[in-house]
Amino acid sequence: MLRFLGRGSAFFPDNNCAFFVKDGDLVLIDCPMSAVHKICKVGLRTLGGENVSRIVTVITHTHSDHVGGLGMMIHYCCYVLHIPVLVVAPSEQVAKDLYLLTDTLDGCEKGSYEIVTAADAGLDWIECPVPTEHSEQLQGKCFGWVLSLDGERIVYTGDTCTLDPFIPYMTQGCYLYTEVSVYRSPVHLYIEDIQAQLEKMKDKKMKVYFMHLDDEKAIEQAAKSLGAQLAPLFE
Ligand SMILES: [Zn+2]
Ligand SMILES: [Zn+2]
Repeated sequence: MLRFLGRGSAFFPDNNCAFFVKDGDLVLIDCPMSAVHKICKVGLRTLGGENVSRIVTVITHTHSDHVGGLGMMIHYCCYVLHIPVLVVAPSEQVAKDLYLLTDTLDGCEKGSYEIVTAADAGLDWIECPVPTEHSEQLQGKCFGWVLSLDGERIVYTGDTCTLDPFIPYMTQGCYLYTEVSVYRSPVHLYIEDIQAQLEKMKDKKMKVYFMHLDDEKAIEQAAKSLGAQLAPLFE
């Protein structure tokens, strides 16, 4: 369903970034600098097809491994690709914070991009942002997303230390893309803490993918025994 330009957590070279193509939009979930470099390298059309005419980036939160490439992406689309960028923020506050980044700090050309909330995005594949718990410093400003693509529901956690806010959206047969960590910390989802939930997910025939990996080998091993898979990379 989703493919990934990178699936690493913050201190890895290819930071987590999912993408898909919909109605002429190349849609990215978050926008790390590593994703911008990958698009520069492989080419927009290779990723998005011949008809891609806009980049949409759906933001989860403002940590730099998630928005560190946003300004550069807007510059690149403005000066090189000559296509607009639509940035979809999960809340009014995050929209304001993103504007500080793209306008005040990065001086992106006005008119080359727009920052909107989901309600104003006009994208029917967005169900809703889901507020979650992640970093204390970004309290109230961290979100996952629920999307509906080709008749399938996608639950995407973003960075989170808990699955609880997402459980009401986990319907029969849905896709779950969840962050997982093998290092225990108060901000990320510790792998042993989701094992019990994975049993219930199996009963619901959910398709579970692990992303934002802090130790790919260890998580790959764990995924096998848990009936989950690693987020599929675009190669
Ligand atoms: Zn992160
Ligand atoms: Zn984060």
